[in-house]
Amino acid sequence: MARRRSAARPGVTGLGLREELAPGVFINSFYRGCTPGFVYTEEGIILIDAPLIPEQALDWRAQIEDEYPGELFLYLINTDHHRGHALGNQYYMPVTVIAQERAHKEMSGYTENFKERVRNSFKREPEIQVQLNNIEIIPPHITFTNRATMLYGGRKIELIYVGGHTPATSLVWLPEESICFVGDILWVDQHPYMAQGNTIEWLNALEMIRQLDAEYLVPGHGPVCDAEATYRIEEYIRFMRGRVRDYYLAGKNKNETKSGLVSEMVEWFPIPPERKAKIESQIKSGLNRVFREIQREEELRTDRTGANGRLASGNGDLSFADQSDQDDDDD
Ligand SMILES: [Zn+2]
Repeated sequence: MARRRSAARPGVTGLGLREELAPGVFINSFYRGCTPGFVYTEEGIILIDAPLIPEQALDWRAQIEDEYPGELFLYLINTDHHRGHALGNQYYMPVTVIAQERAHKEMSGYTENFKERVRNSFKREPEIQVQLNNIEIIPPHITFTNRATMLYGGRKIELIYVGGHTPATSLVWLPEESICFVGDILWVDQHPYMAQGNTIEWLNALEMIRQLDAEYLVPGHGPVCDAEATYRIEEYIRFMRGRVRDYYLAGKNKNETKSGLVSEMVEWFPIPPERKAKIESQIKSGLNRVFREIQREEELRTDRTGANGRLASGNGDLSFADQSDQDDDDD
């Protein structure tokens, strides 16, 4: 990792130094809720994700303009539709936003109620809450389904849909620089947000990321890393799936599974004391999701084999429209 350098000058508000991973490819891992990046091309700037907190989104903009004064913003890619990646889109206008088609569907459904939930999630931090009085949702202007390639100013940027964390999650891969922005597929030393997840897709995405053999991975949450960091989250997901299956096969219902397993899951990653309640609730929403996946898998297995599994209960519906799954923030 010899090429990394931190810029000598922080942004206007001094919210951490940007890092240059390869010539013209920058990230900042000091913001809340996401690790945004940008790529300089001879035709303009391509941004990857937008910080959630307005002051930080503006700081990031100032950092980009400090590095490349007057340069056009061509595109802003959202790796998913969650607030930590897409809520700050409004601070980079005019720019063309690109995301997987499902992100458009989700963001088009963000109502006043959603904005209110975002504000309420900062009720203990009024200095942030007040910044969120004028949320403007900017859904993607351009969508893709599985893959897209952007070729600008000698750069090649590949957008690769993987799902897993959400039905919209996509990677941003720079093959020539060997850098992959992996979105919320990867959380470094943090509990992942799994309430909209599909863990089979997620495990496949982790394997695919390892196959890229990238020099740098930029996680959605946490500092830049390499493929080594994919193993811990894979173990976490496999452990959760295994334990949920144990509970399911022992006849426990969803609520019993959630309350029974949360204490086992909290051990996996450090949790700051002030975020304990929040993270436990996030873990429970992940357990809820995984319970429904395991339930569906076991019902399908029983259907196929006629084995004496548990009687089917519920419809195993993994519809992503389940509002109860979307009440957590910082995702
Ligand atoms: Zn996310």
